[in-house]
Amino acid sequence: MSAALAEVRARIAAAARAAARDPAAVTLVAVSKTHGAERVEELLQAGQRVFGENRVQEAQAKFPGLKTRYPDLELHLIGPLQTNKARDAVALFDVIESVDRPKLAAELAREMVRQGRRPACFVQINTGEEEQKAGVAPGEADAFIRACIEEHKLPVVGVMCIPPADEEPALHFALLAKIAARNGLKQVSMGMSADYETAVRFGATHVRVGSALFGARGPVPA
Ligand SMILES: *Cc1c(COP(=O)(O)O)cnc(C)c1O
Repeated sequence: MSAALAEVRARIAAAARAAARDPAAVTLVAVSKTHGAERVEELLQAGQRVFGENRVQEAQAKFPGLKTRYPDLELHLIGPLQTNKARDAVALFDVIESVDRPKLAAELAREMVRQGRRPACFVQINTGEEEQKAGVAPGEADAFIRACIEEHKLPVVGVMCIPPADEEPALHFALLAKIAARNGLKQVSMGMSADYETAVRFGATHVRVGSALFGARGPVPA
């Protein structure tokens, strides 16, 4: 698996250089959902420190022990967050990439004050305006980002998207980068195993890569 890690890192670096970007400006988020703690630890031993999980409960089962042993581990929540899980999410995650509605923003803000912990936040944008997908519509992005920062006082650092599976991702990446720029946000989370090099060319600061690192996913653990 460390061979896969080396290859993904090399491809990210090459894509960055081809776009005249500093490879160090792109963070690889290793998406470990469905894979056990021992697979995560293999990557930790190979030097990887940033991980992504899409379910709070699954991350709670896997990461507290690893975080104790690797204090510089950085854990990102990349999946939809139910409001009633905001407390657990604030307690465990270092970055929450899926802030996408006012009620959740308010609850995260309340929990951050209560716990004295401030995970960095990304606003998720539904760039393809897909019915079944989380995220705010592009047309509502600027107002929602402003509300998160000014009204809820959330530490918003960037935006995130998951493009429609059957469309050219480049258009979505360009749109997300534009939304980040016009809102003065520096971080842009986009690109997965199939398209992370394209995402880097379009300005991704975070690429979320699962299967290219860990292989195919099994069933979601109970
Ligand atoms: C699973 C997942 C990924 C990683 O997908 P791969 O295609 O396996 O790289 C990235 N982002 C999100 C939000 C995911 O849920």
